[in-house]
Amino acid sequence: MLYPLINDAHKIHIVKDINKCECGYKFNSEIRVKRKTLRKIKFVDIRKVTCDKCFLNFHKS
Ligand SMILES: [Zn+2]
Repeated sequence: MLYPLINDAHKIHIVKDINKCECGYKFNSEIRVKRKTLRKIKFVDIRKVTCDKCFLNFHKS
């Protein structure tokens, strides 16, 4: 299955909403998301996630 993932802080996270990842990592702190940030988000196979916290939180919910 494909999910929006973001490659940031040397890990691949699961995007939870417009500001943060499943693990709580904030990839956006602006009111509006920058295009540069949006470009980092890609719909990729969930197995590509490398952030353990994201992966665990995702499976909990
Ligand atoms: Zn994460």
